[in-house]
Amino acid sequence: MSKFFSSKYRDLTPYTPGEQPKDFKYIKLNTNESPFPPSKKAIEKAKEQLDILNLYSDPTCSSLVKKTSELLNVNEDEIIFGNGSDELLYLSFLAYCDNQNGAVFPDISYGFYKVFAKLCSIPYAEISLKDDFTIDINDYFNLNKTIFIANPNAPTGICLSTSQIEKIVKNNLNSIVIIDEAYIDFGGESAIFLTKKYDNLLVIQTFSKSRSMAGARLGFAVGNKELIKDLNTIKYSINPYNVNRMSMACGVGALCDEEYTRQNCKTIIDNREFTTKELLKLGFSVLDSKANFVFATHNKVCGKTIYEKLKQKGILVRYFNKKRIDNYNRITIGTLEQMKALLNALKDILEEN
Ligand SMILES: *Cc1c(COP(=O)(O)O)cnc(C)c1O
Repeated sequence: MSKFFSSKYRDLTPYTPGEQPKDFKYIKLNTNESPFPPSKKAIEKAKEQLDILNLYSDPTCSSLVKKTSELLNVNEDEIIFGNGSDELLYLSFLAYCDNQNGAVFPDISYGFYKVFAKLCSIPYAEISLKDDFTIDINDYFNLNKTIFIANPNAPTGICLSTSQIEKIVKNNLNSIVIIDEAYIDFGGESAIFLTKKYDNLLVIQTFSKSRSMAGARLGFAVGNKELIKDLNTIKYSINPYNVNRMSMACGVGALCDEEYTRQNCKTIIDNREFTTKELLKLGFSVLDSKANFVFATHNKVCGKTIYEKLKQKGILVRYFNKKRIDNYNRITIGTLEQMKALLNALKDILEEN
């Protein structure tokens, strides 16, 4: 740290992204990326933008907003796009949390919530998941704080129903509830339809997982138009051109090929069910996942050993050195071939130990 670094940030611990090895020698099951390339339509549309990169991108993202509004049946002024859903989460922390309205989120959830809270000097509370890693919705009623919930949750994969989400929203009419639906396309039901009924609900989604565009950095939020106005006020105060031309066009292409996304999601769900069954046979406990990953622990070999031995065998999974979950690994669901390689490696590891 330099002596010039603001005292505000000296104690900041930044988010730790999953390993991104530069060589392609690993089977990468550690950052919940899609194993499939983006849609061909998405790639074509992105390429068309290369010749006009001298021009700024559209700050209103109108092509994307229009397409999204048609697909989701929400008004155009109820949508905002961002540079990944991470940026929309950041804008939400800036817009809806202050010293009075601190933030609250589960103790085991997406690591970025805590990082944003600290970055923005926002007081925050973490609510413990139950012993079985589910959320007790009663813990989230009348909190008078801005609530952040990933649904399905990460890294557990466990999903709340929309009726449970609605109860949380209904019991916090004077606070904002932000539902981070990064993994909703893998078997959960989106709460977007509830944004028509509640002006305190914001739903955030991403193109990173189900639409195979993690590298493009594209996400969006849906909510009451006044909420979207607030987020735009912050966005235009930081980076009006937050979505670049290629990603914008790529996103429109992906939305013109919803069938491709649906097919890929179905394949991932099938592979997840296959992997879960096989892991159970090997003596793992696996949480009930509605995401493109599973969270698993073994009854004999500890989580850290499994992570390290898999890495030696060329397979990367995500290990969190954190209380309550330090015996688990989060395993991204890839192609069937990748999952079979994982299961074979695990068999070997269990025999060695
Ligand atoms: C992956 C993920 C995100 C980040 O998505 P980007 O759109 O790539 O920024 C947000 N929330 C959760 C829970 C995630 O797992």
